[in-house]
Amino acid sequence: MRTWPAPHVPELPGRGPEVRVVDTTSGELVVAAPGPVAELYVCGITPYDATHLGHAATYIAFDLLHRAWLDAGLEVHYASNVTDIDDPLLERAAATGVDWEKLAEEQTALFAEDMTALGVLPPTTYLGAVETIPTIADAVQRLLDRGLAYRVPVEEGAGGDRPELGDVYADVQADPHFGSVAGLDHDETVALFAERGGDPQRPGKRDPLDPALWRRERPGEPAWDAGELGRGRPGWHIECTVIAQGALGAEFDVQGGGRDLCFPHHEMSTAHARALGGEGARVHMHTGMVAYDGEKMSKSLGNLVLVSRLRDRGVDPMAVRLAVLGHHYREDWEWTDAHLERAVARLARWRTAVSGNGGPDATSTLEAIRTALGQDLDAPAALRAVDTWADAALSVGGDDEGAPGLVARALDALLGIRL
Ligand code: ZN
Repeated sequence: MRTWPAPHVPELPGRGPEVRVVDTTSGELVVAAPGPVAELYVCGITPYDATHLGHAATYIAFDLLHRAWLDAGLEVHYASNVTDIDDPLLERAAATGVDWEKLAEEQTALFAEDMTALGVLPPTTYLGAVETIPTIADAVQRLLDRGLAYRVPVEEGAGGDRPELGDVYADVQADPHFGSVAGLDHDETVALFAERGGDPQRPGKRDPLDPALWRRERPGEPAWDAGELGRGRPGWHIECTVIAQGALGAEFDVQGGGRDLCFPHHEMSTAHARALGGEGARVHMHTGMVAYDGEKMSKSLGNLVLVSRLRDRGVDPMAVRLAVLGHHYREDWEWTDAHLERAVARLARWRTAVSGNGGPDATSTLEAIRTALGQDLDAPAALRAVDTWADAALSVGGDDEGAPGLVARALDALLGIRL
């Protein structure tokens, strides 16, 4: 999968602090990566309806983590995926009468354009599900061989010329640590599993929560050869497990995504990692949900604000980024035009403030931005520090010739805001 061009990250004097973040599992502030290499996996999009503000907020949040790590002197290995084959993609393609591959390709390209416009640093490993199928199939076969997965009979007409191979499901009961990521009780998990794409009612499963690892071919659905698994396609959770392990190793620092991925997706992908002999992520991080018109922004509700539409309207993507950064990443919030208007005004004010020949000393401003980001990526506090400097620059001024440049570089390097 081709990634997007990396924006330049300006050099800053000194070093940022060790970055601490709230781990979803423990609820505690923990060191995100001990270093010297920081490993991050952020779940990628399923390429349709890209990129709504909820996606943008998630990738911008992890971009702050990426930038704060770089500033702390760590080398960052960042892996992400594109789920370019899955049920929702096929459903959307069928509903709109377009070819699924064309839909995936167009939406993946649009996502890359949006990420470029929003100044998000690209992943160092970026893989699609389709191009990873042989590796995923190999992992599924290993789980079957170890007795941690099993075959489930398929309905009449499914499974092509080898229907007896069945679909393959993971056995969650075989994992004593299952449930450790989200910490929910069994009834809650079954309800969420059904709500978020799972199939608790599927006949033949050992546990309602068992997730699909390999889905055999169905009439009208694409399928790939996979030896003794039979022609089919991979499940979503195992896709992320395999891509993360391949890029970052059996254990890595942070797995992240929107809060709605905590269960089942991150629970399942971590369980698969353990079943394959690894540990998965040490720390799980989840971003809040972005609402619009009073409801969580989601594809199923259709209340999406798309970054590409805002760009088409001529909105400065830096204002979109700034509007997102006005909220702490774990907060749930609602996108409104007023947020955008405030961000446009703030950006204009900052641009005026850094355009002078000098300004008040900015050393403490840089320090305040770094401290805020080091404490669970507190972007709103970092923005307030910039406001304080801009207020002083515009009211009393100052004769530090290097200050406007330092503020502009700090905004660019740490917050991804290009003035
Ligand atoms: Zn994922």
